[in-house]
Amino acid sequence: MISIKSDREIELLKVAGEITGSTHKYLKPYIKPGITTKELDKLAYDYIVSRGATPSFLHYDGFPATICASINEEVVHGIPKDRKLEEGDIISIDIGACYKGYHGDSAWTYPVGKISKEKENLLKHTEQSLWEGLSVIKAGVHVGDIGSAIETYAKKNHLGVVKELVGHGVGTSIHESPDVPNYGKPKTGPILKKGMVIAVEPMLNLGSADVAILDDGWTIVTMDDMPSAHFEHTVVVEENGYTILTKR
Ligand code: MG
Ligand code: MG
Repeated sequence: MISIKSDREIELLKVAGEITGSTHKYLKPYIKPGITTKELDKLAYDYIVSRGATPSFLHYDGFPATICASINEEVVHGIPKDRKLEEGDIISIDIGACYKGYHGDSAWTYPVGKISKEKENLLKHTEQSLWEGLSVIKAGVHVGDIGSAIETYAKKNHLGVVKELVGHGVGTSIHESPDVPNYGKPKTGPILKKGMVIAVEPMLNLGSADVAILDDGWTIVTMDDMPSAHFEHTVVVEENGYTILTKR
């Protein structure tokens, strides 16, 4: 069952999304060589709380932090720790904020200082794959249309599409139905209706699509240790398109 949000719910989701996007904006200048992911996590926690919201991921299924901080070959769900960012790293930061019971969810991958051409291309194309996926959204399209747009673009650019993790509905839970895979066939899967709210979040790898989970029970890494990127927006489906709730 995919819920259709009322106007009042969409107003609250807009606030949650705005706080989520603003947390990204707030963190961005701090993403430099020498800062630890734990320090970034503390900054994000303090900012979200200062905005009258709570971090959606903290204690979610036991996750111990406010942000997911995933460096280089880490795909998603990296746990913030004392590791310092180094020149040439890329770091994906995933943020969720909950306002009056409604969530926003957005991930972005940032360069740390000067990065390699390969990593630059990975970031550029993974971000573009998000826009490709979003571009098909309007009332009446199928969820498979989104995945197909992302997968087609990723394949054209020789990037591996992570299949084990998917986008999702967003509302009073951070993860609601439907699943929104980053692959698929056009005209398959649930049909989107005006007022549905979904997070679209391609995770693309410079190497193969294969991933594994580390012993910490959270961090997903690429099997071949090649870098991975992740971009995500939460959007509301409109009659003739979509509105981004997690604008930055
Ligand atoms: Mg997310
Ligand atoms: Mg998400």
